[in-house]
Parts: sequence; C-alpha cells; structure tokens
Amino acid sequence: MKYKALLFLVFFIAGCASTTLKNQSGIDRKQLLLMPQSMVVNMANDGYRSALREAAKKNKLNVDSTHVNRVKRISNKLIANATYFKPESSQWPWEINVEDNDEVNAYCMPGGKIMVYSGLIRKLNATDDELAAVIGHEISHALREHGRERMSTAAVQQLGLLGFAAYISNSSNQNRANATMQAASLGATLFFVLPNSRTQEREADAIGLELAARSGFNPFAAVSLWGKMKKQDTKKPPEFLSSHPSDDNRIRELTDLAFKLKPIYESNRSR
Ligand SMILES: [Zn+2]
Repeated sequence: MKYKALLFLVFFIAGCASTTLKNQSGIDRKQLLLMPQSMVVNMANDGYRSALREAAKKNKLNVDSTHVNRVKRISNKLIANATYFKPESSQWPWEINVEDNDEVNAYCMPGGKIMVYSGLIRKLNATDDELAAVIGHEISHALREHGRERMSTAAVQQLGLLGFAAYISNSSNQNRANATMQAASLGATLFFVLPNSRTQEREADAIGLELAARSGFNPFAAVSLWGKMKKQDTKKPPEFLSSHPSDDNRIRELTDLAFKLKPIYESNRSR
C-alpha cells in the first residue's frame, strides 16, 4: 500500500492549483506543483546568469542598441499587463536581454528572465506585433509556471515507479496480481492527469496572444509570423514551434484566437 499512500500524498497534499487567474482565453487548468517555486526560480536564475556570461564572453550580448531598445519597449508593455493573469508577477525581478545569435528563437525562464535572439528580428524581419506574439508566448510559459509543472511531473513519475518497484518486490502472488492492476490504473492516472507539452504550448499561445492584445498589439500578427516561420528552413525548431502540431491546425487555432481577442486589442491599441 506504500505507493498508494505516495500517490495520495502527491495529489492531495502537494495539491493541484491553477497558476494564473481566470482570463478571456478560458485557460484555468489545475496543475501539479510539487516543487517549491523558489527552487525552480533559483535554478532558472543560475541558467540565465550562465547564458548571459557565455554571450558576454563572445561579445554577443546586447550588441545592437536598436534591437535592445525595441525588445525592451515591447517586453515592458507585456510585463505591465502580465499582472492581469498573475498579480505576483509585478514583484518579479524581470530581466530582458538580446543575444546576437542567428537562431530564430526567444525564451523566458521561470521568474521572468527574457532572452531574444537577434535572428528572430533579422531573419523574419519581425514587426513589433509579431515580436509581441513570440515574447508574449514565452512570458506565458513563465506565468503558467510550466517549467515547475514539468519538473513536478517528472518527479512523480520517478517516485511512482520507485514506490511500485518496492511494493512488488516484497509481495505475495495475489498481491502481485493486484499490483499489476494498480500499475495499470497508475498509468491511466498519469496519462489523463498530467499534461503533455502540447497542452502547455496551446496554453502559451492562448494566454500569450491575450497578453499581447491587452498590451495593444495586434493578435493577427501570430498568424503572419507563422507564415514567415514556415518559409524558414532552420535546423533546430524555435521554442514556439517545439511540440510540432500540424501547421494547418495551429494556424486555424491562432486565427480563431485572434478573432476572439480582436475587441480586447481594439480597446487597448491606442494606449
Ligand atoms: Zn512554447
């Protein structure tokens, strides 16, 4: 019964909660958050510091002040509206940097550490609205604490398997049969309760575009950006293409989202 107790502990004591407030996009999925937020943010800070150090060593950090100022202006508008989804984000020590790198990519680490690669701006000739669509998507991963959720998920899977192995190794035959059935139900539980990365990408698209619209950026830019992305033949797919949904599906979903968010954009565009 050890591993049942373990599951109980994980699901009911560690607790499931949504990391963001209710929003127009309707994203309020409950998430498994086993790791303390502070631990995940500390790890992210270490990673960000070392990325900055590496870039600086190669003289690739914040080289083009036009790019840097532009990325900061857009990001700061998005950050100001992030409190709509997660009020505590107003207390985050946000950072925004641009690395001179030909890859078409950007990321935002847990706790609000933003990096935009110059390749995203240069290769796609990205408009402000298009940059806001990408940066909004990346910021939304941090607001939804997707990194913390993924780490929690991995820990549960390991703990669950360990508990199961310990249980079955000192069981009678009857118990082994029961254990097999329980393993099947554990598998089903993990499958249905824990999200796949596609779920997280869909959430980052929805919250990211709403964040952009609330900050006065045109949500239809996500669709035009996607068209530009498809024409690129990058060896490594950028983060915002990471889960490889079919192109047509993603364009359709983004277009639907943009129409839904149009009124929000129009009431905020003059700001
Ligand atoms: Zn993403």
